[in-house]
Amino acid sequence: MKSNGRYADLAVINANIITVNNRRPRAEALAAKNGVFVAVGSTSEILELVGDGTRVIDAQGKTVVPGFIDAHCHPFSAAKTLITTHLSPTDAFNGSPRKIKSITDIINALKERAETTPRGEWVLGVRYDETRLEEQRHPTRWDLDKVSKDHPIHISHISGHIGVVNSKALELAGLTKESPDPDGGVFERDETGELTGVLKENAEFMFTSGIGGKPPIISLRSEDLGRKALRLVSEKYLSLGITGVGDAWTAPNGLKLYQTTHIPLRVYVMMIEDYFPLLKALGLRSGFGNNKLKIGPIKIVVDGAIAGRTAYLSRPYDGMPGYHGILVKKREELEGIVLEAHKAGYQLAIHANGDKAIEMVLNALEKALEEFPRDNHRHRIEHCTVVNTEILRRIKKLGVVAVPFSTYIYEHGEKIGKYYGDRVSMMFAHKSFLEHGIPVAGSTDNPCGPASPLLAIQTMVTRKSCTGEVLGPEQRISVEDAIKIWTLGSAYASFEEDIKGSIELGKLADFVILSNDPTKTLPASIKSIKVEKVVIGGTVVFE
Ligand SMILES: [Zn+2]
Repeated sequence: MKSNGRYADLAVINANIITVNNRRPRAEALAAKNGVFVAVGSTSEILELVGDGTRVIDAQGKTVVPGFIDAHCHPFSAAKTLITTHLSPTDAFNGSPRKIKSITDIINALKERAETTPRGEWVLGVRYDETRLEEQRHPTRWDLDKVSKDHPIHISHISGHIGVVNSKALELAGLTKESPDPDGGVFERDETGELTGVLKENAEFMFTSGIGGKPPIISLRSEDLGRKALRLVSEKYLSLGITGVGDAWTAPNGLKLYQTTHIPLRVYVMMIEDYFPLLKALGLRSGFGNNKLKIGPIKIVVDGAIAGRTAYLSRPYDGMPGYHGILVKKREELEGIVLEAHKAGYQLAIHANGDKAIEMVLNALEKALEEFPRDNHRHRIEHCTVVNTEILRRIKKLGVVAVPFSTYIYEHGEKIGKYYGDRVSMMFAHKSFLEHGIPVAGSTDNPCGPASPLLAIQTMVTRKSCTGEVLGPEQRISVEDAIKIWTLGSAYASFEEDIKGSIELGKLADFVILSNDPTKTLPASIKSIKVEKVVIGGTVVFE
């Protein structure tokens, strides 16, 4: 619906606007029309644009920021915390504590679910964290068999890279002690070689997302359920001030659900590498779509997870001599797909956490760029967690975008200190990225980290965990820089900095009204600032 005439559709007056536009960092009022900002200025200037049909919001001095964009998260996985059994010690969205403390608590929660689930159907649980269970270990198939032997059961670890299934699920998948580990994955075994039910990397992805182009062993039971899940998670994200997301692991069924479910969020999908040949054959390249839904990069995974202690490191894990983590992708295979997708003109989003994995990615990108030079490719390293000066120098030189975690220190601080030791001063290295002039986007990897952008900003500013531990304080950045990363930085990572990420003329009218100014709030209280209204394309979508 286009409105004509000189008057705005929406005006916000008497506000403290943080524009994230260098030419005019602060303003008092804004106006939107046909989905975009048509004026940013003083209240008296904006009142000139108010007519009968204009909705006027008097912000009464409250703060307005551009809509937050989570450049890398997993909406469907996050939705599982809302539609399956949530086994986490913390809320997946705002990080507040919950009541799961032991494997017994997990068994009881799943039992409740099994009672209302028809025999033979999956009982699912998500986001358990063994480091915060009394037993300090992963549950096993035998623990889950206590829930039910008639239902297949799967629970996933908070890292998303590890899971556990019961005996019925192993049977359903045709897995026995004779089954070999899949490439890039591990079936954990006991002393006798028997499968314990614990699945790592590709062994887990076989169940949750499918590997090698095969569908997952578990799938959401119906499209209706998928749509319901998407609507629920969208509401949660909006309530936190998120106006756009990068879905970091999209398969065709997910793409279809985004196309057929009405949600206000803007979505940039990262297509799982298995579908690259199909996309290429169809001529669907990165950037295809519109401002609501766009095909983004080809997503490739090279190593494991920070919270799962499977990131691939050059120096072994603290307290685990000889153990470097899990490499999911072989060098030749990585270089092959990187070259092919780069050559075909796609953006790449490559998951690499450990320094050894990041080096492999940089080598692959360097080769591809040497053979087929291309400006402004904006290839991304997702997470890009453990870095060093040489890595930073190479990232800058190659023009790569870093997409580090923003809430991991808060959620996982305790285990990160234990697993990575002094490496932590060069992990989630926001300050170093900025100092090296590397483009950096905001991301939580939700549900692996809590989704709240305000908690993210707080964590980037304080480097403080939920238990009060400070990790790598040398990587602290200012509130202004953190906001910029979460808006314009994320927009850049999807080639959209010309249309979103700041409050300026002609850009999409996506913004958030906050109860307080984060730049004037005690850093440790930023997460408690209330999101009062969220506007996407000039329409209020949350209040
Ligand atoms: Zn991810």
